[in-house]
Amino acid sequence: MTAVMTRADCVARDQRDPLRALRARFDLPDGIIYLDGNSLGARPRAALARAQEVVSREWGQDLIKSWNTAGWFDLPKRLGDRLAPLIGAKAGEVVVTDTTSLNLFKALAAALQLQAEGAGAARRTIVTERSNFPTDIYMAEGLTRWLDRGYRVRLVDSIEEIPAAVDDDCAVLMLTHVNYRTGYQHDMAALSRHAHAAGALAVWDLAHSAGAVPVDLHAAGADFAVGCTYKYLNGGPGAPAFIWVPQRHQAAFSHPLTGWWSHAQPFAMSHGFAAADGIGRALCGTQPVLSLALVECGLEVFEETTMAAIREKSLALTDLFIELVESTCRKHPLGLVTPRDHARRGSQASFTHPHGYAVMAALIRRGVIGDYREPEIMRFGFTPLYTSFADVWDAVAILKDILDREAYDTRAERSAVT
Ligand SMILES: *Cc1c(COP(=O)(O)O)cnc(C)c1O
Repeated sequence: MTAVMTRADCVARDQRDPLRALRARFDLPDGIIYLDGNSLGARPRAALARAQEVVSREWGQDLIKSWNTAGWFDLPKRLGDRLAPLIGAKAGEVVVTDTTSLNLFKALAAALQLQAEGAGAARRTIVTERSNFPTDIYMAEGLTRWLDRGYRVRLVDSIEEIPAAVDDDCAVLMLTHVNYRTGYQHDMAALSRHAHAAGALAVWDLAHSAGAVPVDLHAAGADFAVGCTYKYLNGGPGAPAFIWVPQRHQAAFSHPLTGWWSHAQPFAMSHGFAAADGIGRALCGTQPVLSLALVECGLEVFEETTMAAIREKSLALTDLFIELVESTCRKHPLGLVTPRDHARRGSQASFTHPHGYAVMAALIRRGVIGDYREPEIMRFGFTPLYTSFADVWDAVAILKDILDREAYDTRAERSAVT
């Protein structure tokens, strides 16, 4: 329990906050409290000038020369090296490229291939949670269907069932580190260790972890990882994702999307495919440079602080939010689905409400932007780089007002993107 109980206490806390200066690195409109950085991060101030530079000078003036002179060609690796420290990866182990869905496909294919060439050749299942983000499951099912070699995806219904499901038929344990709905954070080290002891490989999705919680892939013994840059890393809408292949697996890393960017000599235009050495083999084809370039503006901000400082504030913000919601909205049917245990919590707080969609729509109309996920879940993401303690106080005051007055419309039409 924190001692904060008045808005003035929150303001005082903001004044002591070592991260408070970083809010000025983002352009957020006045009059809104943005609690959706877990879905689309806010725009770094630097992004506008960078976009202008890429469009006007690099593309407009220097045209095709920019692949070399502006470093476009190396951008996936350069950004990967810049992102690496945030997830406990080394230089030369990460590329920013493609989408999370595609990178997961590559990582899973490579993991199955590693098993097929080794002691795990007879193993046939990819184990994951039914509550995983659907695209992860869709991609795994798509891959197993197309491989047509008897692989299948095994879905478990609870966290407790994971260890036993990683049996002698399990080739890969594929998990999302922080659950997108509940904010539950897995113990990556323990589960990776368990997978290895059982003869399986561990593939992690860091979509809700990178930039949100400290991650140390090497210390955790993970095998492969993927994640988004447009969520907590503030890379921009639809910005390319990342994939991590540790040095120890790079020589054996092979995936089916062998486009020319994963070739050892893309401009040799030769007939046979030969994979690039190192992390370059995780690429596929030409990247969306405009979008890719902006990822750097998000990463730059992280270099002014540490994940430890971000984590400390994230837990303080989520603790405060949970405490204020539970104390001031006690008479309403709200249910916390995010773990209270710090070790198991990501950087969000989710509450169920029977009219969750309508309440969230009312919140958004009043300037408190969170989002809604089926079933009944109101999701509030906390991004310590630009969210203040006073924001938390104000958001809860507005939530309480909406609930007390039942100022939400349960018949309103739903938008395509919730
Ligand atoms: C956001 C998210 C994705 C998004 O995948 P895209 O290919 O970028 O659309 C995938 N997996 C998880 C777990 C996510 O949270």
